[in-house]
Amino acid sequence: CGIVGYVGTEDAKEILLQGLERLEYRGYDSAGIALTNEEGVHVFKEKGRIATLRDAVDHDTSATVGIGHTRWATHGVPSQLNAHPHQSTSARFTLVHNGVIENYKELKANYLNNKELTSDTDTEVIVQVIEHFVEQGHSTEQAFRETLSLLKGSYALALIDQENKETVFVGKNKSPLLIGVGEDVNVIASDAMAMLAVTDQFVEIMDQEIVIVKRDSVQIETLAGEKVERAPYTAELDM
Ligand code: GLU
Repeated sequence: CGIVGYVGTEDAKEILLQGLERLEYRGYDSAGIALTNEEGVHVFKEKGRIATLRDAVDHDTSATVGIGHTRWATHGVPSQLNAHPHQSTSARFTLVHNGVIENYKELKANYLNNKELTSDTDTEVIVQVIEHFVEQGHSTEQAFRETLSLLKGSYALALIDQENKETVFVGKNKSPLLIGVGEDVNVIASDAMAMLAVTDQFVEIMDQEIVIVKRDSVQIETLAGEKVERAPYTAELDM
């Protein structure tokens, strides 16, 4: 399973699909991407191979921001409905996640009033809790930070906010995640190999850090809110 993300100036669709293909070796049962452009967020997801996803993607949808996911089901059967990305009820927030949220049932009871969700995944609870905090008047960044502070378990995740289209919010705990930095482009990947076509400069993200990724900036902070400075390293393809 794996995650990719792109914030740049080129068409994200093909870069994300190729990135996911390079993560296929990690194993998966379904795959999906979300693309953001002026019209909104477009989600394509399918059970099965990335080739199937490729056929389902509307190739006329161009976007310069997007996230992608290969799923290895832990909560909920492999299906189109359980495939990522997952969206909040209003569809404002779109999330991909690798890992396992151990306390998703408690979160659903405590913050979502046990409301009926569209999928059987632990992941959907995360994106719904983020929306819950935003509905209470918190900024997306605050809601993201607050939600991640509540999560028990492992996660690498990337979030898109329909009302903040130029940004991808990223978080990590006990699942791999890297940020690739380039000229007027930044990318997200579980494994540098997925995004070597874009850049070979990668920044490691540590557990309990969040990253605010824009086309021209990468801002790393701890969950507690301290700024983190970390230089990139040069990734080499070891094949
Ligand atoms: N726990 C999530 C799910 O079952 C993510 C699994 C993964 O890492 O791909 O959907």
